Amino acid sequence: MTTASTGPAPGPAPGPSPASGSGPVGPTEVGPGDARYEALRRGFNQRWIASPEYVVVAAGTADVVAALGTFLTRTAGGSSPGRITVRSGGHCYENFVCGDDVAVIIDVSSMNGVYYDPRMDAYCVEAGATNWETITQLHRRYGLAVPGGSCYSVGAGGHISGGGFGLLSRLHGLTVDHLYAVEVVTVRDLTHAEVTVARKDSSEPALRDLWWAHTGGGGGNFGVVTRYWFRGLPQPPAQVLTRALSWDWGMFKRDRDKFKGLVRRYGEFFEGERTGEGPDILREFDWHDMFTLLKLTNHAAGKVGLVLQLDGTREDSIERLNRFLDWLAPEDTYPQTPFDVQVGEHPALYDHFVPTRLPWLTATQNLNGSGPSRCGKYKSAYHTANFTERQLDAIFDRLTDETYTNDQALLQVDSYGGRINDVDPSATAVPQRSSVLKLQYQAYWTWGEDANHDGVYDYQDALADPSIAEPHLTWIRDFYEDVYMETGGVPVVPDPDPDQDRNPDPNVLDEVNTDGCYVNYPDVDLGDSAHNASDQPWYHLYYGANYARLQRAKAYWDPRNVFRHAQSIELPGTQRRE
Ligand SMILES: Cc1cc2nc3c(=O)[nH]c(=O)nc-3n(C[C@H](O)[C@H](O)[C@H](O)COP(=O)(O)OP(=O)(O)OC[C@H]3O[C@@H](n4cnc5c(N)ncnc54)[C@H](O)[C@@H]3O)c2cc1C
Repeated sequence: MTTASTGPAPGPAPGPSPASGSGPVGPTEVGPGDARYEALRRGFNQRWIASPEYVVVAAGTADVVAALGTFLTRTAGGSSPGRITVRSGGHCYENFVCGDDVAVIIDVSSMNGVYYDPRMDAYCVEAGATNWETITQLHRRYGLAVPGGSCYSVGAGGHISGGGFGLLSRLHGLTVDHLYAVEVVTVRDLTHAEVTVARKDSSEPALRDLWWAHTGGGGGNFGVVTRYWFRGLPQPPAQVLTRALSWDWGMFKRDRDKFKGLVRRYGEFFEGERTGEGPDILREFDWHDMFTLLKLTNHAAGKVGLVLQLDGTREDSIERLNRFLDWLAPEDTYPQTPFDVQVGEHPALYDHFVPTRLPWLTATQNLNGSGPSRCGKYKSAYHTANFTERQLDAIFDRLTDETYTNDQALLQVDSYGGRINDVDPSATAVPQRSSVLKLQYQAYWTWGEDANHDGVYDYQDALADPSIAEPHLTWIRDFYEDVYMETGGVPVVPDPDPDQDRNPDPNVLDEVNTDGCYVNYPDVDLGDSAHNASDQPWYHLYYGANYARLQRAKAYWDPRNVFRHAQSIELPGTQRRE
C-alpha cells in the first residue's frame, strides 16, 4: 500500500474545507444532561434508543478522525467499553446504530455538502446529506440525479453504501452503479484513524476492494464514510407522469380471486418483461421508465393502493399508463378510488388520482415522504419470477387476518428489473441482478398505551411493557414465514455458492422464485433459526456469492472489527450462522 493511497484525498483535503470542514472547536460531544442528548441518542425508528456515553456531532472528516482517535485512546485505556457506531440519516431498521451496547455514536449528518469536485472530476455527495439535499442540489445545480431512494430524510451514509434503489432505477440502475470513489476513515491498527480515498480505478487491489465494498456491502462495516463521488450520473426526465389510485378492500375481501388476479397480473407483467412473455403490451412499448409501487395493505387500511410514475416527456406515456391499467385491473371490474389514505412512508396522494404531469423535481417532492417517526419492523425479498398460487393465498390470508387490524401495516411490491439487471452480479456488491420485483413487508405502531402510568406515551412505556410490540412482530414474522414456507421461511437465493458452508437441496432451489434480501432493509430475524429454517445464513441472503470479497475487504480495512453490529461483515473464519 502506498502512502499516497491512504493519505489525503486527491480531491478536497480531508481536513477542514469550505465544503466539509470542522466546527470551530473540533467535534462537538453531546452527553447526558445536554438538551440535545434525547434526540441524538435515537434515530427515526423509535424502537431503538441507545444510552451512549456521548454522541459526536462531526462537521467534517477531521472531526471524524479526531472522534475515532479519542475513542481508540479510551478503549486502549480500558475506559470505553462498548461499540462505536456511525449515523447519517438515522433510518436504520434494526439496532445497529442505537443498540444497548453502544458507547459512542458519531453523527455525520452535518456533513451534507453536494457539489461538483473538479479535482476528482466527479460529483461529491457527503455522507450526511439526506436524499432531499442530494436530489435538490444535484438537480438544481447540475440537472442530474442519483437513481436512488426519494424519501426525504434518508441519509447518504447508509443508503448509498447499501445500494440505493428508487423510482429512476429501472431507467438508470442503482445509485452504486454510478459510484466512482468513496472517502472512508478507517481504523486498521487500533492506534489511529486514517483517511482513505478508494476509487473504482485505484491501482491497489485493496483500494478497489474498499470501493467495491461500498457498492452494496452496507453501512457500519469498514469505517466511517465521509464522502461519495459519482461519475456518469443520469439526467432525470424533465417531466414525469404520475398516478395514484386505489381499490376498496371490501371488494377484495368478498372476492379472493379478484385480489389474487390483480397481484398475479402485476407479477406477470414484470416477469414477462424479463422473459419476453406476458401480455402483448410488453412487446408494443418499452417500459423501463415506468416505476410502480403496489401497496398491499392490511385490510384495516380500507384500500389497496397503486402508485405509478412514467417519463412524462414521452408521447406515448399516457397511452401506456392507460393500457397498463386496463390490462392490470379493468375499471369495469376493478372500480378505482383516490388513494387518499396515508399508509407506511408515503403520504395520501389524493391529487394524483388523475394522470398528473409535473416536473420531475416537483413530482419527487410530492412522493418523498418518510412517514411519521414511530416504531417499525421490516422484512424484504427479491423475486425473480411471479408469485406462486400458494404465495398469493398466503398474502391474501395474512392481509385479511381479522385478529390483526393495523392500518399502518402492509406489503409493498415495487417493480424492479430494467437497467438494474443489465449489471453483472459481481460488478458491485449487490448480487440481485435478475429480480423483477422487490418486496418490503412493513408494520408500524406507536407505544399505544401508558404502560408506566406517567400520563404520557413514550419509549418508556415500551420498556415497561415490551409486549406492546408483540402483535406487530408476530404478524409480520408469521406473514413472511408463510409466504416463504417452502424454503424455510425466507426468500432463498436460487444459485448458492457451493463454497459456502451450506447444504442446498437442488430440487427445491431450482424452483424458487426468490433471490434473497436487501441489506438496506435489514432484518435480524434472518440470523435467528427460529425464523430462518433454510440452509442459507443471513449473509448469503443479503450478499450471495459476493460475501467472500466483502470479508476480504473487512479483513484488510477493519481487521480488529471495530465497526460491527448484529449483521456486520465478519472476518474470514468467524462466520456465525446466527
Ligand atoms: C422512510 C424510509 C424510506 C426508504 N426508502 C428507501 C428507498 O426508496 N430505496 C432504498 O434503497 N432504501 C430505502 N430505505 C432504506 C434506507 O436506504 C436504509 O434504511 C439506509 O440504510 C438508511 O441510511 P441512513 O444513513 O438514513 O441510516 P443510519 O441509521 O444513519 O445508518 C444505517 C446504517 O448505515 C451505517 N452508516 C450510516 N452512515 C454511515 C457512514 N457515514 N459511514 C459508515 N456507515 C454508516 C449505520 O451505522 C447503519 O448501520 C428507506 C428507509 C426509510 C426509513
